[in-house]
Amino acid sequence: MGERKASKDGDRKVGRRALLIGGTVAAAGSAVLARDELARLWWRTPGVEKPRKEGEVDYAGARWVAASDANWRRADRPDDYGIDMVVVHVTQGSFDSAVKAFQDPGHRAAAHYIVRQDGHVTQMIRELDVAYHAGNRDYNERSVGIEHEGFVDRPQDLTDEMYEASARLTARICARYDIPVDREHIIGHVEVPGTDHTDPGRHWDWEKYMRLVRRVRTTPA
Ligand SMILES: [Zn+2]
Repeated sequence: MGERKASKDGDRKVGRRALLIGGTVAAAGSAVLARDELARLWWRTPGVEKPRKEGEVDYAGARWVAASDANWRRADRPDDYGIDMVVVHVTQGSFDSAVKAFQDPGHRAAAHYIVRQDGHVTQMIRELDVAYHAGNRDYNERSVGIEHEGFVDRPQDLTDEMYEASARLTARICARYDIPVDREHIIGHVEVPGTDHTDPGRHWDWEKYMRLVRRVRTTPA
């Protein structure tokens, strides 16, 4: 997040990218397809969106609180837009103020997740959808945004509990979308082209964070 946000996201109607699934189905011919293979193909059929349930989360450890739908755009990721990035933010305010801001239709910005200083994780936007968090349309479409409760100039806000909870979340996201665990794909808001935001700030310990993400990523479930 950060203090100011010039919303460049706007809204945009895009045609769903043509998916060459018809060919795949035809090639399978009369072969018996496993049930999950069929489900996967059905998911990827143009015009058929993945089913959604009210209050459903993408990360088992998260609690759902809905953001205002003015702060995100409905999509069907990763089929219409591939996800290959996680963007790390710091809220510049309390957890409660961040939740309020994301529920406010006038805010025009929100991230998928907020990690509290005690490690509690809240999901406010489905990963299927495009959250307006990076201030860059392309980066919004291809990323999952994670906010962290605190201020960039207060190193004591960046607690071990928060790093660990966030690293578990990021590791799961990377596993699900096959995102490489490196600094090309796990970036700070400050690294998004065109942004005027400085978060997560100079106190964010990237070395520690990446080590934690890698540790979870390589631990068998
Ligand atoms: Zn930010």
